[in-house]
Amino acid sequence: MSDIVPKPRWSRVWPEKAVPVKGLRARTGKTLAGERKIVAGALAKLGIRTGGNARLLIGSRKDAPELAHAWRKGKTRLPGGKLGEEGYVLVSDSDGIRIVVDGVRGAFYGIQTLVQLVTGGAVPKALVADVPVNEFRGMHISTGGAKSYAKITRLIEEVLPVYKVNTLVLGIGYLYRFKSHPELKSAQPFTSSQVKRIVKLCRERCIRVIPELNCLGHQSWRTERIGALLRAYPEFNETPGKQNITYCYSWCPSDPRVYRVVFDLIDELIDVFKTDAFHVGMDEVFELGECPRCRGKGAAELFAKAVNDMYRHVVGRRRKQMLMWGDRLIDGSRTPYNRMNGARNGTHPALRMIPRDILICDWHYHTHRSYPSVQRFRKAGFDFVTCSYQKPRAVGTFMRYAAEHGGRRWIGHLDTNWGEGKRGLECLLDGKVGVSGPADAFRRGLDLAWRGAI
Ligand SMILES: [Zn+2]
Repeated sequence: MSDIVPKPRWSRVWPEKAVPVKGLRARTGKTLAGERKIVAGALAKLGIRTGGNARLLIGSRKDAPELAHAWRKGKTRLPGGKLGEEGYVLVSDSDGIRIVVDGVRGAFYGIQTLVQLVTGGAVPKALVADVPVNEFRGMHISTGGAKSYAKITRLIEEVLPVYKVNTLVLGIGYLYRFKSHPELKSAQPFTSSQVKRIVKLCRERCIRVIPELNCLGHQSWRTERIGALLRAYPEFNETPGKQNITYCYSWCPSDPRVYRVVFDLIDELIDVFKTDAFHVGMDEVFELGECPRCRGKGAAELFAKAVNDMYRHVVGRRRKQMLMWGDRLIDGSRTPYNRMNGARNGTHPALRMIPRDILICDWHYHTHRSYPSVQRFRKAGFDFVTCSYQKPRAVGTFMRYAAEHGGRRWIGHLDTNWGEGKRGLECLLDGKVGVSGPADAFRRGLDLAWRGAI
């Protein structure tokens, strides 16, 4: 059983072969009528076609007596006897293979498990009853623009389906060829046709894709690499010309001209990604309250204003879910976190000044005995996801803590990835499973997101 990753909720696999894959034909039930392309695409991995004398049936328990029979075998193994949108029951024996689902996502995940079950050209006798523990199972990629395109498409095609990932957050920033603001120039921006292809690949794999633009902070890398917004509009800089900045330049949250540009960019990204959510970043903001417009205002008030301004546009006008990083909303001095992932610059009271339907991405990359942000977000009534990076032990420790202390506010996990090379995106594409280091951490996060951390 160790071969199926993520580990299913309940499974038993017998040594005997049940159904040879060669010549295997599939039939889908009425439930999947509108989604046959997605199912056919997933089956193509095994060279299985639909139609003809089908020994593989996929559909709901109401679609065929064989499926109803298979459902009765698996039902009691599922918590509450419920499949939900993403669960499936897979039965394989000498009568054939049946995958019982309530919708296309369950069908897609059942087929991923089927792919992993195949050994020696056949599907063994098996009973798998599986539903995910978490509704949010994501991978975050900080992209390098068009130069990341080939790696991202490979990741979507080869890695994310295996782990039953349902969300991909793409850090785009200014690395898109914006039609509304061609004055914002970046090296190798994504084109709209590249984005459309990414969106199509994700849709075919039941993956929700969410673009991200770093708002407020991270408008440069230290003082040297200035981002496209402040290059085109240096007057938007909160601390223009200041050399001894703490980390990165910020834009001024009190300057209405900033929003006239940034909202256009967000609109373009929302439209080209056809998304139902947007990630506004807002992590690691240090340069705050220094310009003549902002001076004299408190850090929390300024930060909350920036969040609320983004919210009014993303949620109010565009009706999309808003995601943001959580570090500025945490009182770092009362936590084991450092000043990057736990604010010590007075922004944290902003948590009480912003809408509670923002999804918080609570990122902590090191192993700690406790993660007090978990209780903080839960008590304040915010849904949140845990976010991890390269340390395998830290991933499990943080997720277990969230599972124990986050209650129903902990809705899942987001693996984050901050580089392209062998310790970043590339290590996920090398095909090795169980290698130590970053790849192990990424795979562990995705695995636990499905099967739960306890
Ligand atoms: Zn300002």
